[in-house]
Amino acid sequence: MTNLALIKKIEESGLTGRGGGSFSVAKKWQLVKKNLKGNNPGYIIINGAEGEPEVKKDGYLLAQETESVIAGVYYAFLYLGKKNVKAIYFYLNPIYFKKYRARIEKVLKNSLYKELAKKVIFYKKSEESGYIGGEESVVINIISGKKAQPNQRPPFPVEIGLFEKPTLINNVETFYNIALIATGVYDNKRLYTLAGACRHKGVYNLPATMSIADVLQATDNYPDFPFFVIAGGGVCGEVLDENQLLAGVEGSGLIMIFDHRQTDYDKLLNYWLRFYKNQSCGLCTPCREGSYRLHELAKEKKIKEEKFIDLLDNLEQSTFCALGSSLTYTVKSYLENIYFKYKKYD
Ligand code: SF4
Repeated sequence: MTNLALIKKIEESGLTGRGGGSFSVAKKWQLVKKNLKGNNPGYIIINGAEGEPEVKKDGYLLAQETESVIAGVYYAFLYLGKKNVKAIYFYLNPIYFKKYRARIEKVLKNSLYKELAKKVIFYKKSEESGYIGGEESVVINIISGKKAQPNQRPPFPVEIGLFEKPTLINNVETFYNIALIATGVYDNKRLYTLAGACRHKGVYNLPATMSIADVLQATDNYPDFPFFVIAGGGVCGEVLDENQLLAGVEGSGLIMIFDHRQTDYDKLLNYWLRFYKNQSCGLCTPCREGSYRLHELAKEKKIKEEKFIDLLDNLEQSTFCALGSSLTYTVKSYLENIYFKYKKYD
């Protein structure tokens, strides 16, 4: 297949990045290719950091679909031009590094991947880099030996990325989908992780257009008890009550079910805020101080609603990266759709 035919297929598929950012994959690849011109070789990074609590889709693919993931990387290698790619980094979280490195190496032994394999470098994400260590600009900083903090954008990695060179960074599931597109079997599905109080936990491959309710039905996980969900990621997601499930699933494709009867609403709020407080990289004051203050306020017997919302609004408008704005997205939807509606005071 020619490069032109491949990029046309990717474009027609409408595939967007499966790491949470949902940016057009065809556009990203085209931008990197354009910036590689003129003896300016760059890099490919396969992001297998998967640090969102409860999300397991990339691990599933590395275990079950290793060949397809590598095939997707190979298509990127060919599309960008072999000589234009200096190195290909498999950036894996410590668990995936330990579990799947040998499996990936075995697939790379295929003679088809001889040139690709020579350029592959495995990089183990450090525990200390935390949740933010999976964000693309942070991944680039970590591999470059810099601090685990995000960069101001623009410039984007497609232009100035790893070691200041154009860099194609895509998530594991994105590369897997590329292989399906190239071989003509992609049918606009995505991976959903089902977690929490459900009957059949696991990873499911279903149409990307499904609503949350559809996914719960299709996987025989629709609860027969009063429930609510977080959809997207285990901490970076939208919290919705059971009558709000007609939207699709964004982000990392997680649906986690909570049983109203078993949920301590304060404990859950505390858990999310503690997570954000602990995972804040400390670069910007609104997130660093704001997440700390919110966590403190949430410990009070009765939340001071006005003050709490005011702080959330401030955070929403002023944090440097998506982690800070995710806090407000998750916590605000939780307060609005669940907490203030169901929380009972003695
Ligand atoms: S929002 Fe939080 S994680 Fe993002 S740069 Fe600011 S302190 Fe770091």
